[in-house]
Amino acid sequence: MIIYKHKKDLLNYVSTQKLQGKIIGFVPTMGALHNGHISLITTAKNETDIVICSIFVNPTQFNNKSDFEKYPITIDSDVDLLESNGCDILYLPTVADIYDAGIENLHHYDLGAIETVYDGPSRPGHFQGVCNVVERLFRATQPNKAYFGLKDYQQCMVIKKLVTIMQWEHQLELHFCETLRETTGLAMSSRNMRLTAEQRENIAPIIYEAMSYLKQLISSDNVDSQLAHARNMVEAKGLVIDYFDIADATTLAPIANWDGEKSIVCLVAAFCGEVRLIDNMVLHK
Ligand code: AMP
Repeated sequence: MIIYKHKKDLLNYVSTQKLQGKIIGFVPTMGALHNGHISLITTAKNETDIVICSIFVNPTQFNNKSDFEKYPITIDSDVDLLESNGCDILYLPTVADIYDAGIENLHHYDLGAIETVYDGPSRPGHFQGVCNVVERLFRATQPNKAYFGLKDYQQCMVIKKLVTIMQWEHQLELHFCETLRETTGLAMSSRNMRLTAEQRENIAPIIYEAMSYLKQLISSDNVDSQLAHARNMVEAKGLVIDYFDIADATTLAPIANWDGEKSIVCLVAAFCGEVRLIDNMVLHK
């Protein structure tokens, strides 16, 4: 695996490969890699000629300073994991390499309604930071295909919107991949490293259990009562809910009255101690 720290060198490499007709797959990450990340690398490897992974803890997408400062960094084991899973290129930039004009006065994207719900208001500025970094990463890696995890469901919708805004639909295919979970059902996440063993094994998995309960029992005439029950399950374990809601699976508009037919997704953000966990489950396709 080749490691590039400067976009100029990476761009040189990518242009040469693309001239030879190679298809570039790209997996952006913030590191502290786990099998969820690796599943994206493996999918990209199966569908492209050259896989680029980036590791960059993007300061502009953290609305909470302590969350940024406590974000786990495990670069040595990340490099080993990428190498042993056949990743071709690691882009490991500094803040200055990504934000060559500094991190003030960033571009503002008109993301529309998607930014007004769930993690939009809960994490002010988060999706603007995501778009700013992803646009820069796409420009540096020039991918034909980019891979994102459905674990960050709203982020997938935001990236789709970004690609539309940039008019890149014809040159860049987006692939959204299933969420990998621990055997307990807990969605794999770099933030799980900050949980205690007890929280990880016995408390945080309630999010998955509650969503699964809802998926099994929800119908058009019991939405409110089942949603209330699922929320209670989570709170009874001591988690503090930011949101636990049902939304239109395509637009993410909150659903008040479900007709029993529309595709819906359950979206969750909850604090387990001081760690904010997010997860989701499509309840009806
Ligand atoms: P992150 O490093 O958390 O920014 O994640 C990098 C990419 O990996 C994003 O597209 C995430 O949605 C994806 N990802 C994170 N956790 C998982 C998981 N458990 N399963 C599949 N993809 C994931």
